[in-house]
Amino acid sequence: MKTYKLPKDKFPNFINFLSNKGNLYGPVKQKDQHSFEQVNEYSEMDFNYQRTILGIKKFLTPPRYITQKFDSESVEDIFPQSETNIVLGIHPCDIHAVKILDKLFLDNIKDPYYESRRNNLILVGHSCLPDKNCICQSTGTDIVEDGFDLFLTELENHYLVWVGSSKGLYLIASAENLFSEDITKEDIAEYIRWQKSRSEMFETSIPFKYMPDIIHLNYDSDVWDEFGDKCLSCGVCSLVCPTCNCFNVEDKIVMSADKGVRERMLDSCTLPGYSLVAGGHDFRPNRTQRIKLYYTHKLKEYIGKWGQPACVGCGRCVSYCPVDINVVTISQALFSDVYEEMVCDNNE
Ligand code: SF4
Ligand code: SF4
Repeated sequence: MKTYKLPKDKFPNFINFLSNKGNLYGPVKQKDQHSFEQVNEYSEMDFNYQRTILGIKKFLTPPRYITQKFDSESVEDIFPQSETNIVLGIHPCDIHAVKILDKLFLDNIKDPYYESRRNNLILVGHSCLPDKNCICQSTGTDIVEDGFDLFLTELENHYLVWVGSSKGLYLIASAENLFSEDITKEDIAEYIRWQKSRSEMFETSIPFKYMPDIIHLNYDSDVWDEFGDKCLSCGVCSLVCPTCNCFNVEDKIVMSADKGVRERMLDSCTLPGYSLVAGGHDFRPNRTQRIKLYYTHKLKEYIGKWGQPACVGCGRCVSYCPVDINVVTISQALFSDVYEEMVCDNNE
């Protein structure tokens, strides 16, 4: 991986340069929240943010879109326009979330709708500092080595710019007078000091490595009923989680005109009817069963299949669930009396 240096006073020039290479999106502050919005220049963005409401999945699996048009004679696939979208300012946890989505939608059987959006997406990451809801250190997603095109680490007077793909290298080469390769020993020492101080800022730690066993042992525990009783079945946790990707498919038919469209829309395993099948049987009619599915999938089954949780520790469920059901409260309840002890052990 090649690394370059970008002086901070040239960062706005880099943004101008990027805005000529495609549709540019960056973190924009709206009241007290941030979201990735289309931008043209540096002044529109705020890089000092914790988390956007939605992650990058809105660019890859939009909440609702048409996949096909059909009539009595033919079916036509509808792919998005092949414009380049550049998303700037993405934190390491959200890049890890894209890596998880890539694995699900592109390994083995490729999803053509995801693939066409992914091929037109350039990811430019940006370093961040954690708040109390960030648990990415526990999920091992606080640092990112690949999955991006460029990644900018902000130091005192300049950025270290990591190149993660040929697209990223092309951008650096095209803007050659902005970047230098002159990385000194002092720069390296500053980077190490920055990483050390950042890693000491994490306040919340969860021992995820024990989670598959702990969930297995707690499978019939009353803990799930306590969370099930509180859950509002609103689906917000799935909407904001950058790795949640379940979708439903609906055909909308215009009977008189003998034609229609097929739509794909995000779904959530916490919503009623998610496990309803033809014939009217619902495998998970109550909230307890659905909450258990959500967390068993993320923190047990996914680790069993892929060796990592389907949680990147972004803290969105912690910030947005209206009744405080999230990875932290679920972990605390499952670990019960030994939670504090386990967290201490984990930090040693
Ligand atoms: S866990 Fe929280 S965010 Fe998720 S459906 Fe239940 S109430 Fe809504
Ligand atoms: S489960 Fe919560 S913390 Fe983990 S990735 Fe999803 S929203 Fe983020």
